[in-house]
Amino acid sequence: MKIQTFTVGNFQVNTYLVTDEATGQSAIVDTGETDELVRRLNALAPAPDIRMILLTHGHIDHAGALTLLQAEWDVPTYLPLDEKPLFDTLPVQGRMFGLPGLDRPCGRVDHWIRDGQSIQLGETTIRVLSTPGHTPGQCCFYTDEDIIVGDTLFAGSIGRTDFPLSNPALAVESLRRLLALPGHLRVHSGHGPVTTLGRELETNPFLAYIRRERGMPAGPQIRWAPGT
Ligand SMILES: [Zn+2]
Repeated sequence: MKIQTFTVGNFQVNTYLVTDEATGQSAIVDTGETDELVRRLNALAPAPDIRMILLTHGHIDHAGALTLLQAEWDVPTYLPLDEKPLFDTLPVQGRMFGLPGLDRPCGRVDHWIRDGQSIQLGETTIRVLSTPGHTPGQCCFYTDEDIIVGDTLFAGSIGRTDFPLSNPALAVESLRRLLALPGHLRVHSGHGPVTTLGRELETNPFLAYIRRERGMPAGPQIRWAPGT
């Protein structure tokens, strides 16, 4: 699977165009909150064969431009079922985040997805791992080589859990489940650079509790990390 990154909008969110190389079929993952992704995808030559839109979670920087994308590509859209309460607040999230000009309708979700589900993109099977905590139902999308994690995990950090509808205890458990996946997986986060699960397990200060649970070397520590 080929992954192209487009960092867009006021929040510098990473959105992705993932392409099944056998068939050329593509999925958009996350949206930004402006028309920047639409413009950048439309500038690609040849034009991508976009078959679906996948959303990791319902925050404005990840889902706020859904209506703009759907006006351009009227394709099935997937969002975790447990994100519905947050997604329903999209029309007012611009105001919540201090950017009232960005208030916008939600857009259409065709498939409310759950943990363990698979989504077929051409000959590529994309699997869903539910990782709530940053939001009520955030999920990751992964293959044998790559995982797109939204704001679950960053290179050297983790997603904030102090937003409305966040749940720090769920984040602790979600990171345990995420880090149980193979360490070679390349991690594509909602913000910042690419990393791997293995590198984060060894070096991310917020994952010290998992290292301790597994009897690994302590590595970098943060006194107020989840689980401490
Ligand atoms: Zn977020």
